[in-house]
Amino acid sequence: MYIVQVASECAPVIKAGGLGDVVYGLSRELEKRGHCVELILPKYDCMRYDHIWGLHEAYLNLWVPWYGGAIHCTVFCGWVHGRLCFFIEPHSGDNFFHRGCYYGCNDDNMRFAFFSKAALQFLQQSNKKPDVIHCHDWQTGLVPVMLYEMYKYHGMANQRVCYTIHNFKHQGIAGAEVLWGTGLNRGDYYFQYDKLRDNFNPFALNMMKGGIIYSNAVTTVSPHHAWEAHHTDVGCGLSHTLHIHEHKFQGVLNGIDYDFWNPEVDRYIPYSYSKTDFEQKAYNKKALRERLNLSHTDKPIIAYIGRLDDQKGVHLVHHAMYYALNLGAQFVLLGSATEHGINAHFWHEKHHLHYNRDVHLELGFNEELSHLIYAGADMIVVPSNFEPCGLTQMIGLKYGTVPIVRGVGGLVNTVFDRDYDQKKPPEKRNGYVFYQTDQYALESAMERAIGLWYEYSEEFRQLALQGMEYDYSWNYPGAKYVEIYDQIRHQ
Ligand code: ADP
Repeated sequence: MYIVQVASECAPVIKAGGLGDVVYGLSRELEKRGHCVELILPKYDCMRYDHIWGLHEAYLNLWVPWYGGAIHCTVFCGWVHGRLCFFIEPHSGDNFFHRGCYYGCNDDNMRFAFFSKAALQFLQQSNKKPDVIHCHDWQTGLVPVMLYEMYKYHGMANQRVCYTIHNFKHQGIAGAEVLWGTGLNRGDYYFQYDKLRDNFNPFALNMMKGGIIYSNAVTTVSPHHAWEAHHTDVGCGLSHTLHIHEHKFQGVLNGIDYDFWNPEVDRYIPYSYSKTDFEQKAYNKKALRERLNLSHTDKPIIAYIGRLDDQKGVHLVHHAMYYALNLGAQFVLLGSATEHGINAHFWHEKHHLHYNRDVHLELGFNEELSHLIYAGADMIVVPSNFEPCGLTQMIGLKYGTVPIVRGVGGLVNTVFDRDYDQKKPPEKRNGYVFYQTDQYALESAMERAIGLWYEYSEEFRQLALQGMEYDYSWNYPGAKYVEIYDQIRHQ
């Protein structure tokens, strides 16, 4: 099969979060299975150019219709760790992708509406005929809309779309300008309830809703999150739309790229290890302490890695830090916040705790350091308010770092409580789970985990090894996506 991924991220060249990991990891798995995969991405000024091999101009004359005229684009081509990627660079006064950031601009809707249009225009103009176009999140929600409303009539009648929602919270709520910009026009038509009209704001369009309605298959990133999105407020207003389209909607658990996230081969960690020489992990713990200037004492290290925002349960992250210190553990936080208040709060904490050698806050994005933390920490805490899939707990498991998680979304599908899980026998359990959002729920899980580390170290080690047994690679999800692609391409 010939599959084109259209996305706003691809790790490690463009990575703001899990989306980038998934786009890269899935593409690689599909290629390993013998399929032809290409990626179309924006050419951001701030992406990691050092991760692109052989970047060159591939198409000089892409003209993308935009409002009444057209924007001239250059399409660059290069390999990101073996994946063939096309990067679209528009030349216009808008400077859509020359902003020094991936997201967070006032005109994000227009930037990604343009990108979606440019991706289709590129496919059409270069006469590429993929069997399946796989789009991701709100940024590319208009791809299936434009494919079925416009490009289908211009040589792209046989292309099918799989649309994956990584986060329902950001849906691309836009005004009529995206219709005029992209040439979809016909406001009366698209502002209907069964088209793009937002379910709550009758004067707004919803790009993610468009993606759901027009795609041949829709997935989200874990089975439990699919249920939550359908049946609870986690769908952020799209539950009803999912209900109408439930026949084509399902959850597929994300995978982890074990060539990259694997303590046996990880080139960012000083001591490689596996289940059979697990004691080597202790040397990474020592290296982590040296790197972050933590004291060398007989204490467990608890880590948090992730964005610092409401989704991730920042109030519980904050509490976990102080509670860990109270219980005689060390705490390492690696995270970045885009919201000013949260950012200021954690900077304040960082200064406040500056002289405490049992805690370190690293505020910013640091891929290399994240590997050392996964390898050096004993436990990783993931207290999310909601979590579509969550990669950090799966990476933690692979590194023998015991997860302490809130039982939501993909965390339910991947972490099984050592003491209370109902589905798995004791020898298959791999972490700690709590359910409520208050601090006491978190405390009880942390107390059990830290208690086991101090009182029954052999059993704690056994729990970590049981976690390492789990296979959360792309193997199963890769097969599942091939199955979905196969179904839709024969529709
Ligand atoms: P998200 O909601 O951000 O997609 P996930 O758990 O799905 O959360 O994926 C997070 C990914 O981003 C993981 O690979 C994690 O290691 C990485 N990550 C998050 N924050 C940082 C950071 N500050 N520095 C380095 N890596 C980070």
